[in-house]
Amino acid sequence: MVKKIEHLGIAVKSIEDSLKTFETLLGQKCYKTEEVISEGVKTAFIQIGESKIELLEAVDASSPIAKYLDKKGPGIHHIAFEVDDIVAEIERLTKEGFILIHTSPKDGADNKRIAFLHPKSTESILVELCQEKS
Ligand code: ZN
Repeated sequence: MVKKIEHLGIAVKSIEDSLKTFETLLGQKCYKTEEVISEGVKTAFIQIGESKIELLEAVDASSPIAKYLDKKGPGIHHIAFEVDDIVAEIERLTKEGFILIHTSPKDGADNKRIAFLHPKSTESILVELCQEKS
């Protein structure tokens, strides 16, 4: 079951610069920064009620975020939905014909197991499924 929008991922050139904008805009401080080596990204999270903003900065030129910034520039990169059982959701969505980038969950930032769906099958929006690690 899909429970809520967990966070919006926003691609930025510099977390350090962008954090000031979002912290001032939202009146909240970033509660965590974390590097996800496997994805080549640095992340920073700001909590807003039940949802979050995740800022994403590339750590090197081969990072998917570096490629995204080259092509599209900074902006909203993905929507993350929280699910109660990520393995069951991957199976359900695969049966429904969605294209999964990750066919099994992998470790993501902020203590989550994650899987991405290809934008080809989701109206051109990159979608992340995530589940809190227990
Ligand atoms: Zn995310």
